[in-house]
Amino acid sequence: QAKMSRPVQAQRLEGIDKNIWVEFVKLATTYSTVNLGQGFPDFPPPDFLKEAFVRAISGENHMLHQYTRAFGHPPLVKILAQLFGKLLGRDLDPMTNVMVTVGAYQALFCCFQAFVDAGDEVIIIEPFFDCYEPMVKMAGGMPVFVPLRPKAPKHGKLMSSADWQLDPAELASKFNERTKAIVLNTPNNPLGKVFSREELQLIADLCVKHDVLCISDEVYEWLVYDGKEHIRIANLRGMWDRTVIIGSAGKTFSATGWKVGWTVGPNHLLQHVRTVHQNSVYHCATAAQEAVAQGFQRELELYRKPDSYFVQLPKELQQKRDWLVQSLDAVGMKPIIPEGTYFLVADISEFKSDVPDVPDSDEPYDSRFAKWMVKNKGLAVIPLSTFYCAAHKKNYNHFIRFCFAKEEATLKAANDLLQKWKREKTS
Ligand code: PMP
Repeated sequence: QAKMSRPVQAQRLEGIDKNIWVEFVKLATTYSTVNLGQGFPDFPPPDFLKEAFVRAISGENHMLHQYTRAFGHPPLVKILAQLFGKLLGRDLDPMTNVMVTVGAYQALFCCFQAFVDAGDEVIIIEPFFDCYEPMVKMAGGMPVFVPLRPKAPKHGKLMSSADWQLDPAELASKFNERTKAIVLNTPNNPLGKVFSREELQLIADLCVKHDVLCISDEVYEWLVYDGKEHIRIANLRGMWDRTVIIGSAGKTFSATGWKVGWTVGPNHLLQHVRTVHQNSVYHCATAAQEAVAQGFQRELELYRKPDSYFVQLPKELQQKRDWLVQSLDAVGMKPIIPEGTYFLVADISEFKSDVPDVPDSDEPYDSRFAKWMVKNKGLAVIPLSTFYCAAHKKNYNHFIRFCFAKEEATLKAANDLLQKWKREKTS
């Protein structure tokens, strides 16, 4: 076979070709007996959703096997406009204020491609869902990072994700004339932090003052616990016109493999998002969109009623969260209680004697710990440093992230592994 005489250059991709998920997903498949790593439920989606998919592919309407409208299957954009219209307290046009994407991931990609020009700065709050950084860079932009800073919890109490807060002066110092957008993720992956109204107001005031866009990743909007409220920044004064909301049916209906997501926002922003979509993906799977539309139809009818999946799922997940908190606390892996999402971050400082640190290693300690743990204990997790930029990884290298959207048996198996480990440590 003929070889090319020169290596192919892909300049924009330099430095962003590594992706930790590829490595950690492979480690989990090779070694884990219990996988609390990647964020997906190991329980099925609700029956009404599965049945809707079956109806979509085996029903009379064979057109559901063909292309539909490029910017979103009409029944889905209509129901999303209705639901978000209610949540945002404004009339939404399904054709211009909503666009369907291949999961929230593609919605993020479209937003960064649409809004970030060469040299633009984009503020990212750490810890962050790791794809934000390479996506900003691929668009030619410059990510600017600002960390949530942990405050010590009250004496004798476990830390909460609410103890991780922005320093207002530090946040303000990141805004300048090159700032194009800020990425907000509430509830936040990986911490589970649900931003308070005051925190969102701080961000909103800076966006308005500096005329900055907000890309608001709200994929875990229904997963909030302890009576906390998910607040939409687009509802704060001056924000609707500068915010694109991103959502995911994968997270909403426990069907991550369907890859149905959406963007909601003002037409003057979504028109650019549509341009990226029509010149890349163009179209998302029709049958999956039809089934998700029916899922939302049901949820809108049952809105806030006890039978609603959006009421039931967080209740079940809160119980799972509490089990995991208990089992981690019992072995001395200090959990940070999440207010939302299905993730929990725990402090591994007390386990340093099992997995000694290697001074001067380039690899953050938590990453080596997570690899050691899956190989030696069979438990797969994700190191927290994954969710920080290179310069800040070393400051947050003694935490790991667990996903608790798992069957009771899976969480019990994780507990058994941890208990066994603890017995071995003390014997
Ligand atoms: N945003 C966040 C914060 C996420 O955690 C995820 C999935 N892990 C996504 C976006 C992507 O969602 P989807 O699976 O719908 O593409």
